[in-house]
Amino acid sequence: MYWAKEIETISREKLEELQLKRLKDTLENATRCPYYRDLGLGDYRVETLSDIEKLPFTTKQDLRDAYPYGMVCVPQKRLVRLHASSGTTGTPTVVFHTMSDIDTWADLVARCLYMIGVRQEDVFQNMIGYGLFTGGLGLHYGAERIGCLTIPTGPGNTKRQLRFMREFDVSVVHVIPSYALHLADTVENLDIVPERDLPHFKRAILGAEPHSEETRRKVEEFFGIDAFNSYGLSEMNGPGVAFECQEKQGMHIWEDAYLVEIVDPDTLAPVKPGEIGELVMTTLTREGMPIIRYRTKDLTALIPGECACGRTHHRIKRISGRTDDMLIIKGVNIFPVQVEQAFMGMEGVGRNYQIILESRGHNDHMIVRVELDPDMFIDDFKKLEELRKRIIGSLRSELLITPEVNLCEPGSLPISEGKAVRVIDKRTI
Ligand code: ADP
Ligand code: ZN
Repeated sequence: MYWAKEIETISREKLEELQLKRLKDTLENATRCPYYRDLGLGDYRVETLSDIEKLPFTTKQDLRDAYPYGMVCVPQKRLVRLHASSGTTGTPTVVFHTMSDIDTWADLVARCLYMIGVRQEDVFQNMIGYGLFTGGLGLHYGAERIGCLTIPTGPGNTKRQLRFMREFDVSVVHVIPSYALHLADTVENLDIVPERDLPHFKRAILGAEPHSEETRRKVEEFFGIDAFNSYGLSEMNGPGVAFECQEKQGMHIWEDAYLVEIVDPDTLAPVKPGEIGELVMTTLTREGMPIIRYRTKDLTALIPGECACGRTHHRIKRISGRTDDMLIIKGVNIFPVQVEQAFMGMEGVGRNYQIILESRGHNDHMIVRVELDPDMFIDDFKKLEELRKRIIGSLRSELLITPEVNLCEPGSLPISEGKAVRVIDKRTI
């Protein structure tokens, strides 16, 4: 049931005691790097956990400014690994790990995998990018630690992915949600029947990009499996930060390794318990490159109450978007995942979509291209028009603006091997 029962079910009181001790050690360690030393971190006194609020935030820009070695707290010879973020929003940032950092990280990931039922007998296919991106190696080490036969396919080459899944009786995959849907398209095109041809396939870990509950359900229903949401970011190691348990009621965030705050992104004051805000995290166990109060730009909320699985670590809600992903269309704030949420669950809707923004005169114009389900009767124009209107109606009530909706053939929109590019912004004003 638990990979590390004592720590996963620790009482809040004991957890806070541990967090305070680790926070103090982290601060002491952090002052060893030029960046935090120059910031005067050593002058701050922390006696209780809430004293964290007195400390300065760290942003992605700070990491860029400290590039290359400005945040490293150990002699260079003790570093064993460098990772970089995907660079979704600009110059990538680098993070360094010591041997002990890699070890703690692998253990956190093993905890996540064990929590969703992954065991030594499982065959694990990792369809997420290896290399500088943390998704591949992060999950890889965790799966090996459990003892799974681990297949490092990385993304792409979908036919080979499916051949491996069939021939090696793969039971668990780690995959970017948009790629999981593309995998479903390919399965259909190749006349593979999941129940018949992939009988061992039981679980998918969906990570690395925002996705809706509807997308999760689509993946689960198509393959007849359980799919779990996995959240992480390279600045906080990568995967293994927060992960759904079998209850699928939010993601447990490992609070012995991360001190969690949710703040208002504008005022930076803590939000009320349960309210949505920006997730801010402090590493509590990282040796090579500790980070204090990292502003993730990801929006979420803490879920109040205890989880039925018995784990005491707080849960966060599905990420609703990152603040820098927010689109302002006709003066309305919109996150791409809200668009997806409006139609992904509808009958007749397929597995891919794209948002195109243009300027028309002095106005923003939004076009949403939605792939049809292969089962949808393409020749029935009346039915297609009904679906198109239904999508527009749902988008209007979700977004409060009325976009143009184009229905497209299944498989006609571009897919990417990494995180999906959902928005093409061609606006000139
Ligand atoms: P980059 O910031 O360049 O994309 P990373 O590769 O480290 O760098 O990606 C981390 C980001 O990916 C997170 O901050 C978050 O925005 C997004 N992300 C990762 N996992 C999830 C998830 N399960 N749900 C929503 N967003 C996610
Ligand atoms: Zn739980």
